[in-house]
Amino acid sequence: MSSGEYLDASKATEVLSKMGPDGLSVEELMDLQHSGGLTYNDFLILPGYIDFPAHVVGLESKITKKITIKTPFMSSPMDTVTEADMAINMALLGGIGVIHHNCSIEQQVEMVRKVKTFENGFIVDPLILTPEHTVNDVREIKLTKGFCGIPITDTGKLKGKLLGIVTARDIQFLDDGSQPLKDVMTTDLVTAKEGVTLNEANQILKTSKKGKLPIVNEQNELVAILARSDLLKNQDFPLASKKDHSKQLLCAAAIGTRPEDKLRLTKLAEAGLDIVVLDSSQGNSIYQIEMIKFIKNKYGDSVQVIAGNVVTRGQAASLIEAGADALRIGMGSGSICITQEVMAVGRPQGTSVFKVAQFARQFGVPCIADGGIANIGHITKALALGASAVMMGGLLAGTLESPGEYFYHEGKRLKRYRGMGSLDAMERTHGEGSQSRYFSENDVIKVAQGVAGAVVDKGSIRKFVPYLITGLQHGLQDIGVKSLDDLREDVYNHVVRFEKRTAAAQVEGGVHGLHSYEKRLYS
Ligand code: IMP
Repeated sequence: MSSGEYLDASKATEVLSKMGPDGLSVEELMDLQHSGGLTYNDFLILPGYIDFPAHVVGLESKITKKITIKTPFMSSPMDTVTEADMAINMALLGGIGVIHHNCSIEQQVEMVRKVKTFENGFIVDPLILTPEHTVNDVREIKLTKGFCGIPITDTGKLKGKLLGIVTARDIQFLDDGSQPLKDVMTTDLVTAKEGVTLNEANQILKTSKKGKLPIVNEQNELVAILARSDLLKNQDFPLASKKDHSKQLLCAAAIGTRPEDKLRLTKLAEAGLDIVVLDSSQGNSIYQIEMIKFIKNKYGDSVQVIAGNVVTRGQAASLIEAGADALRIGMGSGSICITQEVMAVGRPQGTSVFKVAQFARQFGVPCIADGGIANIGHITKALALGASAVMMGGLLAGTLESPGEYFYHEGKRLKRYRGMGSLDAMERTHGEGSQSRYFSENDVIKVAQGVAGAVVDKGSIRKFVPYLITGLQHGLQDIGVKSLDDLREDVYNHVVRFEKRTAAAQVEGGVHGLHSYEKRLYS
């Protein structure tokens, strides 16, 4: 084409509309006859048009028929991922944690209770002593736990009458370690009344110059304390997942589908559970269908049921018909999972998410893409394929808030992470929870469907989740959509376009050609 034959530049958009857009629609991408099942790494999303800053991108998402949260992140019900600390922090950051059930009913109920009674900044289960405890007891606590400033109540428990407080200064120069605390404690106390807001309590702490502020009820019984050392940490959490007009964080927990799980659910519901996840690797079973019907019958909308796991429309149809409020999608894609290898059953996760979510949306049932999320790109892709939220195990394991202690191996700081179908998890006391996920509680020989391993220290999710949020907002900005609803709509309207990624394209899309490099992900 010589320069005289060029088209008029001002007509570029018009010409484009005649040629049609680049790339594939989501249906063309997911055409099984041509591509087989796809994983997140098998495709890319093409860029759109940006006319807004990334920080305005909204990430609000409906995760069940009745519950909407501000960030589309969930943590897996696994015993190395979600206990109370993870669930509290996920909810504070706008997501939700699903407490695992590989433990006794009492232990799981206690974890749910901790989430539901959590008040930002207030310590609701402080260490307390009686007036008869000794100076040596306080010294021991200082040594092992690293803090002083211990409230004294008549019972040595919460809800006992507050009698005093023992601080480091009270015991500093005492020779006789056997002295009872009643002789040395400070009884001239500054307290605040139950119901005080965090702001007001922080203010009292600041002006009183005390290290701890006991919170008491009308009967002068201790109900919580606030620590001066936490003042800086007592930030606001504007995204926190709560029901309208409620101060309580939202809480989810997993159960199995055995008859005894009905009792477990009753106790969890009494503790205030909002969402129950029916935890099964293959959810399309008579047990699960009956359980969904039982729960919907007994609790209506007040306990939302996430059913699963499913990877086909057929599985989804059964559970939707039974009354599921959301579906959990994934079989064999988890980082610790060997299900596809051992059972020969499963489906690549990209295809599973698209097929199930496309079907379920017709019935207003949100879907959660569970497993195989290894980076922010995978999150963006899962949501583009129709998921309303992602569930993460490996990505959140190894954080400060995940259960377990850090340990060192070959100079690296690690935490354990294991599949719930690993022999390790199934052999734990109360391991019936994880066994039932794989229908193997009655087997003489346990067949593993997961492995046990370790992941590197990722620091606190208070930094990691904001990194996920910001990264996801930038991904959506590149696509040219301002919210997750817009993303899904533009995908189904074929405005958002996709392209398959060859093996060479995957190499090109990763770091390549360097002698060495350091991969730092956020600052
Ligand atoms: P990840 O985020 O890729 O690590 O995957 C976590 C997900 O894997 C969980 O939410 C479960 O759905 C699934 N999962 C957990 N334990 C096992 C297992 O032992 N075998 C297979 N899948 C598992």
